[in-house]
Amino acid sequence: MSNETIKVVIAGPRGRMGQEAVKLAVRTPHFELVGAIDHTYDQQTLREVMSADSDALIYTDIRACFQETKPDVLIDLTTPEIGKKHTKAALEHGVRPVVGTTGFSEADLEELQALTGEKGIGAIIAPNFALGAVLMMKFSQMAANYFEDVEIIELHHDQKLDAPSGTALKTAEMISSVRTEKQQGHPDEKEILPGARGAELNGIRLHSVRLPGLIAHQEVMFGMDGQTLKLRHDSYNRASFMSGVKLSVEQVMKIDQLVYGLENIID
Ligand code: NAP
Repeated sequence: MSNETIKVVIAGPRGRMGQEAVKLAVRTPHFELVGAIDHTYDQQTLREVMSADSDALIYTDIRACFQETKPDVLIDLTTPEIGKKHTKAALEHGVRPVVGTTGFSEADLEELQALTGEKGIGAIIAPNFALGAVLMMKFSQMAANYFEDVEIIELHHDQKLDAPSGTALKTAEMISSVRTEKQQGHPDEKEILPGARGAELNGIRLHSVRLPGLIAHQEVMFGMDGQTLKLRHDSYNRASFMSGVKLSVEQVMKIDQLVYGLENIID
């Protein structure tokens, strides 16, 4: 891996993910945090605003930020609407986006894909930066070649708005791509309470648990005669996502297209 310094700008530095990304950029020797983008605190430093170990300036105007700091990479951890605007602005300025913001639509992704193609630079959009979660998905796909029966249980904090989680859906899709569709359970089973058997995607059952105290967890449970296999991943805090952010910043410098999903950049 090249040790050339990568100049990074972070959008959303005061957010829960953004704060971790600022720490990552400050402590990684080959990253240089050259600026941040926020909707407030223009021209103040990250040290002044959030006691970060960095004198990088905050900009409310993304274009001014790019012109003055000339970054290689934008890390966006904001909201879907803002994240999309930031990603487009980055591509237009030749800055490679690494986007963790979730909630982009298919149409958004297609538009960004086209723009990336036009500009001929790398971009990574990753709805889950936890390397362990990505490996869990890959291992599940591998196991599904041998185990026909599988159920997915995802567990999240009670502030999460969507169910099932994007990671659970993605896992089910990856498993579906290698297994013959199968209706699991007894053919005559009946739900006494609706929803007892969970949601269904291509015959795979998905169960969503929501409780305070949880962060982001998932268990993929396979079964066959006389044995079960359980693949489980737990994110205990937002720092768990930073190994994936670091890898993405390094990888985005080496590609010239848009990659969606971390599973597509790890072997
Ligand atoms: P958060 O704590 O709400 O942080 C979002 C930040 O964006 C806030 O500081 C917000 O500021 C700021 N913001 C709003 N408008 C902005 C603008 N125009 N320019 C710059 N910053 C702006 O949320 P979070 O938990 O950090 O999550 C951020 C995003 O990452 C979400 O989309 C979340 O779903 C996603 N996420 C992804 C992963 C992954 O692995 N990819 C993991 C966890 C979360 P104000 O508070 O002042 O509005």
